[in-house]
Amino acid sequence: MRLQGKTAVITGAGSGIGRSTALLFAAEGAAIVIADIDTAGGEQTAAEIRGQGGGALFIACDVTDEDGATSMAAQAAEAYGGIDVLFNNAGISGIGALHEVEPQVWEREMRVNVTGVYHTCRAVLPYMMERRSGTIINMSSSIAEMGVAARASYTASKGAVLSLTKAMQVDYAPYNIRVNALLPGTILTPFVERYVQASEDPEAAVAAIKRRQLSGELGRPQQVAQAALFLASDESSFVMGSPLYVDGGLVFGKQV
Ligand code: NAD
Repeated sequence: MRLQGKTAVITGAGSGIGRSTALLFAAEGAAIVIADIDTAGGEQTAAEIRGQGGGALFIACDVTDEDGATSMAAQAAEAYGGIDVLFNNAGISGIGALHEVEPQVWEREMRVNVTGVYHTCRAVLPYMMERRSGTIINMSSSIAEMGVAARASYTASKGAVLSLTKAMQVDYAPYNIRVNALLPGTILTPFVERYVQASEDPEAAVAAIKRRQLSGELGRPQQVAQAALFLASDESSFVMGSPLYVDGGLVFGKQV
């Protein structure tokens, strides 16, 4: 029970990595606030947590909406008496080289992946600063450290999240708030399933993804959730402003 008595807000917990993390954090004793635009998915995560005996509250929230984020944080703090952990996990992905990315796709991706983190942090930080305690986990990606074909807007957004994490850590260390980033490789979630299905040859796309990870496999959402648990818990008390790679060797391993 590594998160006993804690409250964790997880954005995008209605699917994939966010849902797995919500279930794991709840099993470790945390009360979970699921903030997602997907009401069906968010309610399903909440129901699964309650089914395993945990506490969960779904709040419909679009992270691109400043007022929505503020209201979500207020409801979360009111329901559970504070917020200990914020996992900025919600994200979307565009595809294409820079000249192929339409302006509205670029704008939307930056709004969800970068501005969304800003809104949610801005809404939650006052509760953490007041108590001089908290842990923030920002979802970046291994792609922030590499050049990958046809992922210009996504890479730019996840690089911004990684840089923001480092800057935030300096500003909030005096408040005893730790801010770290997760950098997953390719994890089998609906997010990646959509990306694979959109490619010309889905089978070849999966094979290429497997090849570039030393594990030879796609990662599982649970494997990222375990890393998020480490960053959320006191076990990582000396980890500050750091990127944590959960990528099957994608970034540092090279098969040439
Ligand atoms: P997913 O699509 O399964 O889940 C994303 C969730 O975010 C969904 O429930 C969706 O409704 C929610 N969401 C989207 N826009 C939102 C908004 N504006 N406000 C609130 N919620 C919103 O995706 P996933 O694979 O679980 O990805 C989760 C995060 O991990 C994303 O930030 C993604 O960029 C990142 N990531 C994923 C992978 C991967 O391979 N799956 C790798 C690296 C990083």
